[in-house]
Amino acid sequence: MSEALQALENLPIRDDLRGRSPYGAPMIDVPITLNVNENTHPMPDEVVEAIGAEIGKVAHRLNRYPDREFVELRQELAEFLGHGLTADNVWAANGSNEVLQQLFQVFGGPGRSVMSFVPTYSMYPLLADGTNTEFIAGERAADFTLTAESAVAQVIKHRPHIVVLCSPNNPTGTALEKEVIERVYSAVEELDGILIVDEAYAEFAQDPEQTALTLLPGRNRLVVSRTMSKAFAFAGVRLGYFAAHPAIADAVRLVRLPYHLSSVTQATALAALRHRTQLLANVEDIKDARNRIVTRLRELGLKPAESDSNFVFFSGLQDEKEAWEYLLADGILVRDNGIAGHLRVTAGTQEETTAFLQSLENYLVSTG
Ligand code: PMP
Repeated sequence: MSEALQALENLPIRDDLRGRSPYGAPMIDVPITLNVNENTHPMPDEVVEAIGAEIGKVAHRLNRYPDREFVELRQELAEFLGHGLTADNVWAANGSNEVLQQLFQVFGGPGRSVMSFVPTYSMYPLLADGTNTEFIAGERAADFTLTAESAVAQVIKHRPHIVVLCSPNNPTGTALEKEVIERVYSAVEELDGILIVDEAYAEFAQDPEQTALTLLPGRNRLVVSRTMSKAFAFAGVRLGYFAAHPAIADAVRLVRLPYHLSSVTQATALAALRHRTQLLANVEDIKDARNRIVTRLRELGLKPAESDSNFVFFSGLQDEKEAWEYLLADGILVRDNGIAGHLRVTAGTQEETTAFLQSLENYLVSTG
């Protein structure tokens, strides 16, 4: 055991956290980073200036706490989402990770459970651990799809307090049919639970109508989680949010830290939302790069999953670790999610996409 690990073991941490590992996507400084599904397009200058101006305004008042209820931001987010939503339906926090943590804190906790269907976003079990909520790993079919019948049967069997459906799913990239969400919702409501649909990648879906936002009316136990980290190219700001019945936002107020969204975060997010046309302009280009990856990987004899997101999950590699190393030696970082024979790559700019496809092709040629 390393000295650092020994020192950690010696601390009086909670027993249930002993031996656990933190979130650990590698952070390696290479020219082309396609491993954490960021939007790799640079911020447009006009937006950078608008953000600077907004922060300049609030800088004079940084001696004061921010608006604890971030009313303007909630209004702007509701307007962006549409579907008749108002500020009362919207909640936000520092990334959708914090949004999910708050939801787990208030609806999960000791003696309660959260269920999701693996492979899925690797933070769900970690957020469950942190909030002392039992994580139940539901199963998918061998091709990683999830049918309504299977999901509903597993929910009824395990009776979780919270169910998280990630759609489009990370790392597989595919969105769920709306019917699956509707049917899981009915089962969850029957159990007096909460259904969270994590739509971090919704803006990249092939069919924008697929969003669970359309299901919100009349479904008071449904939470649709979104983020500005992906489509808005705003991962550095940390702004995630959800839409739900206003009572869900009131529930989360019981556990949030007061003033959790800083004045700087609020001002930056507002400036970005007001310039959303420019920021979201790259979404089409990213979808195009994603489609190009899927088509080319097929031509190369690999098996990419259909993608509704800004990344592609693919199999068909003999040795994914060797392929990962080969790409890294070319200055390209992709993601090994620990699933045999598979890798995941973020759709970057057209140039980054070309460099990735060329390097992978060279690798396949080199291995014969
Ligand atoms: N949900 C999913 C499915 C994700 O892939 C991510 C980020 N990788 C998040 C939530 C968290 O995003 P953020 O905290 O940046 O909003």
